[in-house]
Amino acid sequence: GNMLELIDVSHVYVNDQGASLAVEQLNMAVRPGEFVALVGPSGCGKTTILSLLAGLLFPTRGSVLLAGVPVTGPSPQVGYMLQQDYLFPWRTIRDNAAIGLEIAGRRTKAALEAVDRLLEELGLSGAGGRYPHELSGGMRQRVALARTLATEPEVMLLDEPFSALDLHIKLQLEDLVQETLRRRGKTAVLVTHDLAEAAAMSDRVIVLGKQPGRILRELDIPEELRSA
Ligand code: ADP
Ligand code: ADP
Repeated sequence: GNMLELIDVSHVYVNDQGASLAVEQLNMAVRPGEFVALVGPSGCGKTTILSLLAGLLFPTRGSVLLAGVPVTGPSPQVGYMLQQDYLFPWRTIRDNAAIGLEIAGRRTKAALEAVDRLLEELGLSGAGGRYPHELSGGMRQRVALARTLATEPEVMLLDEPFSALDLHIKLQLEDLVQETLRRRGKTAVLVTHDLAEAAAMSDRVIVLGKQPGRILRELDIPEELRSA
């Protein structure tokens, strides 16, 4: 079966300005362990699609399935990585990385040790006792990744996680994030404006057009073109 599925999904935002159609009759499926990139112009519905997959928004029409089950809200099976890291400035790196576990009521000694191993795996072993403002942007994004992975979601949704970084750091992080997620067999959906990043990080690129949520093209990426 599919890990993620959107069936005939439409989404309309309604506010005091009126209604705006963000996604129209979209069909899309992602297999377990597959990495899919969504690219397309600003306003084409990429963030809306991720929010639907995350259970943060509900479709106006159609259905959204996670492992075959309709999405009814945010799920611990789904992790999110965003352009901003949203670290708490008053918490150490280690306590930031553990916050998801804390919220889930799983802040045990074993879980904290797992967080330390994750920080080490992501090249942050010396940073656990430091604070976010002491770290570079690339390091903070690695903390954000550790925080998400600590709760062991099956699915990772990545919304332009590298777009605020310098090119050189961005390329490094593309490799690191991809390797880390693939090693764990995660399923991933990446939203990006950057076609090179989409190709380097995914098995399949879905190109959306200006028309809301309409797929223009799908490209399979040969394994040898991927960066990790
Ligand atoms: P991006 O292209 O990076 O997704 P946008 O500028 O489209 O960024 O959107 C930034 C934020 O503004 C998002 O949280 C989105 O939900 C919100 N937003 C975008 N368009 C509108 C709108 N017409 N009315 C209200 N909020 C909007
Ligand atoms: P993208 O991520 O591709 O830039 P979005 O999903 O943010 O696209 O937006 C898709 C469309 O929905 C755009 O026309 C945007 O203006 C509109 N939109 C997004 N968020 C909101 C919102 N909160 N309220 C109203 N319109 C929105």
